[in-house]
Amino acid sequence: MTVAGIVVAAGRGTRAGGETPKQFQPLGGSTVLGQTLAALSSHPALTQLVVVLHPDDTDLYAASINLPEHCAISTVPGGATRDASVRAGLAALQDGTRKVLIHDAARPFVTQALIKRVIDALDHAPGAAPALAVTDALWRGNDGNVVALQDRTGLFRAQTPQGFRTSAIRAAHASHSGGAADDVAVALAHGLDVTIVEGDEDNIKITLPGDFARAEALLAQREKERHAMDIRLGNGFDVHRFCEGDAVILCGVKVPHTHALDGHSDADVGMHAVTDAIYGALAEGDIGRHFPPSDPQWKGAASEVFLRHAVDLARAKGFSIGNVDCTLICEFPKIGPHGSAMQAEMARIMGLDPSRVSVKATTSERLGFTGRGEGIASIATATLVAP
Ligand code: MG
Repeated sequence: MTVAGIVVAAGRGTRAGGETPKQFQPLGGSTVLGQTLAALSSHPALTQLVVVLHPDDTDLYAASINLPEHCAISTVPGGATRDASVRAGLAALQDGTRKVLIHDAARPFVTQALIKRVIDALDHAPGAAPALAVTDALWRGNDGNVVALQDRTGLFRAQTPQGFRTSAIRAAHASHSGGAADDVAVALAHGLDVTIVEGDEDNIKITLPGDFARAEALLAQREKERHAMDIRLGNGFDVHRFCEGDAVILCGVKVPHTHALDGHSDADVGMHAVTDAIYGALAEGDIGRHFPPSDPQWKGAASEVFLRHAVDLARAKGFSIGNVDCTLICEFPKIGPHGSAMQAEMARIMGLDPSRVSVKATTSERLGFTGRGEGIASIATATLVAP
C-alpha cells in the first residue's frame, strides 16, 4: 500500500506577522515547514512527499529540508488558489499511490499515531480526516455582545492531514468548481464519504503571532520527553552466619575457609544482596518473595537462579542494568585474591560487561558480629535504566 503526502506550503501566511511567510519562520532550530515535513515523514508508511511551493520561496524551502531516507521528496509550483495548489500536488504523485494525505504546512505537531489513524480509516472509506469535537459552549455575538447560544451538538474542529484514496480525491478535484475551504469540502461536494478520526489537541495550526510561543513550548516539551529516561536505584542487604564446613560461596566463587555459610540455599550472601538490589529497583520485593524459604525446591539452590530471575524480570520490564556495586563485609576469608573472579562470574550471570560490575570488600574493624567472625554481611546497589 503506497501512501504519499502533499504539503500545501504556497500560502503567504500574513496573519502570523513577520517578514517571511509563516511556514518559513524559525521554529525549534528549523522552520515551521521543516518541522512539519519531518513530522509527517516520520511515519514509515509515507514513501513520497510532494511540497507545493510558491515560486518565490524556492530558496527559503531549501533551508527547511532534513528528512529520513525512506521518503522521497519533490516540489511543485503552487497555483493561484489552494484548490489549484492541491491539484498540482495530486498530479505529481507517483504511479501506484493508493492513499494520499493532504496536510497544512503550518501543522508541525502531527504525530505518527494520528497519521496512522487517518491511513487505517482509508481502508473503510474513501476519505478520512482528524477532528476534535467542540466541547466549549458556542455563542453568536454581535458588537461585543452575546446575542444567541449556538448548539454545539455534532460540531467538530477540523484538522489535517486529510486523507483520501488517490483516485477518489483526484476525481473530486477534477470536477470541483473551486473555492473550497479544504479537501474534505471538495470530497463532500463529489459525494465521497469522509470518516472522522480522533484529532489531537497538540496538532495546532500556526496562524497568529502568539502561536509561535505555544509551538516553541510544545517542542521543548517533546524534546524533554524524548530524552527522558527512567532511572531506578535499588539497594540490598544480606547476612549469613558461619556454620561447619570448609568453604564459602561468595558472588558465585567458592572460597576455601575454616567455615561454611549457613542458609536455605547456597548462602551466597553477596549474590543475594545484588539480587535484592535489582528487585528493589523494580519495587518487586526481595528474594524471599519470589523464592519462599518455605518451598523445599530451593533448598541448597545455586543463588544464580535467583540472580538470573531478577535480571530477566528487569529486562522484561524494559530495563537494562546500568551497574551493580557489591560490598562484602567480613574479617575472613580475605576477599582480595578472589575479587576479579567474583566480578567475572557476576558479570557472566547477569550478561553484563565486567566494567559494570563491582565486587569489593571491607572489614568492620573487628566490631560487631562480622568483627567477631560470626558471619558475613553484604550490601549492594543496582542501577536500572529504561530509555
Ligand atoms: Mg541470603
